[in-house]
Amino acid sequence: MNKVAGVTIIGAGPAGIAAAIQLKRYGITPLLLEKNMLGGLLRNANLVENYPGFPVGISGLHLTSLFEEQLKNLSIQPIKAGVTRVKFEDGLFLVETGTSVYYSQIIVVASGTKPVQLTGFDIPASLQGKIYYQVVPLLQESGVVIAIVGAGDAAFDYALNLAKTNQVIILNRGFAHKCLPLLWERAELDPNIRYFDNACIESIYSNQEGGMMVQYKVIEGTSNFQVDYLVGAIGRVPNTGFLSDQVTEQREELQSAGLLYFIGDVKNDIYRQASIAVGDGVRSAMQIFRTEKGLFS
Ligand SMILES: Cc1cc2nc3c(=O)[nH]c(=O)nc-3n(C[C@H](O)[C@H](O)[C@H](O)COP(=O)(O)OP(=O)(O)OC[C@H]3O[C@@H](n4cnc5c(N)ncnc54)[C@H](O)[C@@H]3O)c2cc1C
Repeated sequence: MNKVAGVTIIGAGPAGIAAAIQLKRYGITPLLLEKNMLGGLLRNANLVENYPGFPVGISGLHLTSLFEEQLKNLSIQPIKAGVTRVKFEDGLFLVETGTSVYYSQIIVVASGTKPVQLTGFDIPASLQGKIYYQVVPLLQESGVVIAIVGAGDAAFDYALNLAKTNQVIILNRGFAHKCLPLLWERAELDPNIRYFDNACIESIYSNQEGGMMVQYKVIEGTSNFQVDYLVGAIGRVPNTGFLSDQVTEQREELQSAGLLYFIGDVKNDIYRQASIAVGDGVRSAMQIFRTEKGLFS
């Protein structure tokens, strides 16, 4: 089925939600497409302490549930759909999902990032379902052992979140951790977190009971342990694979014309923070309103 929209926002993380809220204030109801859960990556955050308004911090799940409530109060109804392709033809964008095609005058890309996949070892098919790149699906787990690969803020934040009810092992391929000092200090004090640096996974294999074994190399030699889950936190890259080559080539031109916007983590390089994403969202809505004023009247 084909449908027409003035503004289509791809992704309902903090950036896309903020853009939708601000557009609504201008009387513009955008089409908000989200392939997963509302709130995006922020749902994984253990404790958000740098988002103004929450003096003692707030969990990512709680904060994003408030975002969701705000959308509801404003009668913005996101559509659960993953965008597979965005094309630009005859002055209109074609936004394809598995089941629909939407025509749109303006596109706001708020699709965040995707994880860098773990490489360097094979993962047997029987264990593929035990590998994750976010922690939200694991937050109900209790009493299990989880290995996290990485050494940045996300790895340590994931560890602190999961260690509330589980045993966590952090494997850092390098020598130095790259996380905020306060996350390092909290992890050091947490009896449920063990940290190994210069620890490189050599293989993942299944033991006789079907459990997941992780064999890793440290300076002293090779060691292994059994884990229930493995979480990759070795970086993230912009998520724009759904843009056609033509849109990618015309990106700057379309942006200058006020037809295409990139907001939040998808374009923020190392400055990936919810408050920056929200600011981008509000800014894009203001720009849309200012430059396209006559368009929606
Ligand atoms: C563990 C962790 C802790 C963090 N802690 C903090 C913190 O304390 N403070 C802070 O400010 N920030 C924190 N962050 C960063 C914060 O989560 C991000 O900066 C923020 O979520 C970025 O928002 P975004 O909307 O740009 O992208 P995202 O949150 O990544 O949202 C993008 C959305 O787009 C959707 N999407 C992607 N592709 C498609 C498609 N093809 N079709 C439809 N939908 C699509 C995704 O499903 C997702 O919901 C943390 C991040 C992590 C991982």
